[in-house]
Amino acid sequence: MPETGFPPGNETEVPAGLYIHVPFCSSVCPYCDFAVTIAGEDRRAAWQKALHAEALMYADGGWAFDTVYFGGGTPSILDLERLADVVNGLRSALCINEKARYFLEINPEDASIRRIRAWSDLGFTFASVGLQSPDDGVLHFLGRRHSAEQGRLAIERLKEEHFRTVSADLIFGLPGQGPSDWRRQLEAVIQMGVDHISCYQLTIHDGTIFGRRRRAGVLREAPDDIQADLYELTHAVLADAGFEAYEVSNFARPGHRSKHNQKYWKGVPYLGFGPGAHSFDGTSRRWWNRGKLRLWQRDIEKGRWPLEDAEDLAAADLAFEVLMLGLRQSDGVDLKAVECRWGVAVIDPNRLVIERLVDNGLITVLGTRIQPTMRGMAVADGLAREFEV
Ligand code: SF4
Repeated sequence: MPETGFPPGNETEVPAGLYIHVPFCSSVCPYCDFAVTIAGEDRRAAWQKALHAEALMYADGGWAFDTVYFGGGTPSILDLERLADVVNGLRSALCINEKARYFLEINPEDASIRRIRAWSDLGFTFASVGLQSPDDGVLHFLGRRHSAEQGRLAIERLKEEHFRTVSADLIFGLPGQGPSDWRRQLEAVIQMGVDHISCYQLTIHDGTIFGRRRRAGVLREAPDDIQADLYELTHAVLADAGFEAYEVSNFARPGHRSKHNQKYWKGVPYLGFGPGAHSFDGTSRRWWNRGKLRLWQRDIEKGRWPLEDAEDLAAADLAFEVLMLGLRQSDGVDLKAVECRWGVAVIDPNRLVIERLVDNGLITVLGTRIQPTMRGMAVADGLAREFEV
């Protein structure tokens, strides 16, 4: 296990993002392949203790944060007292800017007014609601525990309690789903007054209940052409409603982009605590924690770094990654800035590729910046692979 050189410091002047992985859920959804557990309070208490110890391991690393994101799993099922202790423990152990933005993933069934007020008092201002659909039939198919009405109420309450940004996660591309059905769902969610929407295509993973159903021949993903139509429709409907497609899966009203997630996409440093969490020092080193809760916890209890692995990326790999992530965002990527930051040639070796992608309507060029069109964004990873870096 790579323990030399740990903890890496933040090698840039840029404030980092802090991600906290909460690996607990009330039940496991049939499509989910995340490492989650339905363990009770004892395991949650042990997680909390280990998490605080992990934060202390980084206390002298020179890290300063201006975003803190609680994801999972289901962070909103944490007991309010426990969540407050975790947040305050992080604030005492680490250098978190007083004006840092706090993000919380919330399942609708947890969003009582009492809990929403407590989350707000703790400093959370960005609520990412696991709505998945405003339709009871779809929620039933997805094995979700909440109803469409609970989802609507959660968003209404979060808005009433003045969360700065209320976001809804949605899943599309379900078997048999057509454009009119998906349009109706998108419009229903827009009507709820959300500021931000994340749309993810249903992916069936081996090892999940959906995966077993696919193997048994009773479930299959929607065909690629339908998925592409639904994706295009998503852009059209959300653009009409004033949402900007700022990343492949993310749409925001002006002023409501996710400041935290943009750090992952723009090559900014971040630290992740908890099982399976990933970290990046902003220059070349990336590392990630053991995925299994018990193993992550055991390492920390023994005073060891709870690492699964780490890698030092070469400049060309990092430049390619920034290029690929850039092509997934409406802002695109400034190729000159990539050349300056990583010291690799990107513009000259790719003049013909750029010309061809422009001719095919997949990117536009603005000075040294390339930006994907909607069609380009839909195939962003393939576009990036056309470049020689
Ligand atoms: S609530 Fe989210 S993280 Fe938990 S099992 Fe369902 S999909 Fe997975």
